[in-house]
Amino acid sequence: MNPYVANAAVEELEKLCKLEVQFAGVRRAVALHPPPYGAVVRTLMEPEGREQNARLLLAGELIQILDVDGEPVFSPEAALAIVDDTPALTAILDARARLNAFCMEQGRVLAICPACGRGQELDLAFYVAHLGMGPWKVTDGRFIAPPTLAWPAALPAPLTRPYAEPVLPIRMLARRPPAPPRAARIDFVLPAARLGLAESGDALTGTLGDVDHAREIEAWRTWAPPTLEQPAERTYWHPDRPGFRAAIRLAVALGELRAEDSAPIEPTPEAIEKLFLADVDFLDLVYTATHDLEVETPPGDEPPCTIHCSCGQAYLPVR
Ligand SMILES: [Zn+2]
Repeated sequence: MNPYVANAAVEELEKLCKLEVQFAGVRRAVALHPPPYGAVVRTLMEPEGREQNARLLLAGELIQILDVDGEPVFSPEAALAIVDDTPALTAILDARARLNAFCMEQGRVLAICPACGRGQELDLAFYVAHLGMGPWKVTDGRFIAPPTLAWPAALPAPLTRPYAEPVLPIRMLARRPPAPPRAARIDFVLPAARLGLAESGDALTGTLGDVDHAREIEAWRTWAPPTLEQPAERTYWHPDRPGFRAAIRLAVALGELRAEDSAPIEPTPEAIEKLFLADVDFLDLVYTATHDLEVETPPGDEPPCTIHCSCGQAYLPVR
């Protein structure tokens, strides 16, 4: 057990994972498993053109997340039979949407005071209430929604210049007031740590920085250069694939990932794929909360998201 486990969250997770579903009139016990990001990243597609691949994408996901009567769904045929059973599929996808949303919401931000270095623990609801963050969706219709860090998309090389590098957008910080100062760091505890999903050696905590443009260019050169033919198991490591774009940007933005006893984990795309989907969705939202939302100051007042540290310092829990 890692030191971040929250028992109430673990109990709720156990309830959300179990359901009974009627398959062709027979009640069966279904168990859902929160998947690692790497298990579902291949099923994350652009919204355009996703419907025409719906059966295969959904079957691919079910194989990764589902047990029926205690047995994993191994074969594509068995998974496709579930996809074609509309009432059963709807029940499973509804439960999966509730489970994914719950898991993601268990992550915590630690906004570090710039004066004394203490951390203020915040959940995502804080950024909804005090910074106007909109509702989030972990699913988009029947599909897992790709993380928003996938957009704006990288523009792939034109057909006439197949070995040109992708053109990457520059990500800006939203407007911030000159005072109070901003957090010294944005640290976090991953959902998998609090839910007890993380195993020995897995990432538990870390520090979220920025998708620096120069470092993103370098990351594409390192992990998916246009001249490299990716091995068969990694053909989706490509600018066209939103799941990989989000992974590489998150790898760039993560200043640090830490396992038990603060052992550092290098934030590579491979390390991102070992995180849980809930961890990646959480970090994606923390990125939005701490980079993309404008901090407004009401006249004669302070920004509503201001943190008042016990040392007397006021600061903003954003980058
Ligand atoms: Zn302080």
